[in-house]
Amino acid sequence: MKPLLAGNWKMHGLSGSAKVLARRLAELDLTSMDIDVVVFPPNVHARIVFDEIAKSDLGLGAQNMSEHASGAFTGEISGEMLREVGCDYVLVGHSERRSLFSESSDLVAEKFRSAQSSRMTPILCVGESLEQRQQGMTSKVIDEQIDAVLNLVGPSDLCRGVIAYEPLWAIGTGKVASPMQAQKVHAEIRAKLGGEGSGTRLLYGGSLTSKNAAGLFAEPDIDGGLVGGASLDGEEFIKIARLLA
Ligand code: PEP
Repeated sequence: MKPLLAGNWKMHGLSGSAKVLARRLAELDLTSMDIDVVVFPPNVHARIVFDEIAKSDLGLGAQNMSEHASGAFTGEISGEMLREVGCDYVLVGHSERRSLFSESSDLVAEKFRSAQSSRMTPILCVGESLEQRQQGMTSKVIDEQIDAVLNLVGPSDLCRGVIAYEPLWAIGTGKVASPMQAQKVHAEIRAKLGGEGSGTRLLYGGSLTSKNAAGLFAEPDIDGGLVGGASLDGEEFIKIARLLA
């Protein structure tokens, strides 16, 4: 399957820096690299980024979306609105959404379904806290997060999405999971998906940089990465992309 690298810009930068970063990344020759690279700018910069990358193979995504199609939901953005500005992907259930904005696994599942109804590919983020890992609950937590989506959309639609394993203790902390730790979880996710999941892309995320990516990308069930902090530095993100190619 074609590897995927996703860059989550979170709530950083203004339109000027978004434009400069997008322009630099648009220079990447993705055809020769044979990987997909998608950037996730703040929604308000989506059109600016889209215009910069329109002639490249770089993809555009959103960091979040409403589970509703339209209506009186002040401050929310629908899947169709994101499609209209050129988004093909959307993150659902990023740990910052789950923990800071109290998004439940059931709500995340609704967003996953809504993304697919809007013809976008959802990237379902799952992962355990340090405490949960220390209590031996990693598999249980991830199972529950995936089951919420599985129960709502069924196995085929779940497998058409992307799953990003992002241990909370590794996000933005500089503490990366070891290749062995990440592979163990990825293999469990792959096994859970069954036959239909053999082509589902499973990404690792959490303090990924050009210094640690090679070992993680070498694992058989790690099909790419979701990068936060390091995706804001164009040269660093390009280095990570080259390690995936
Ligand atoms: C993320 O936000 O999904 C992430 C993985 O962040 P970082 O790479 O900064 O840990």
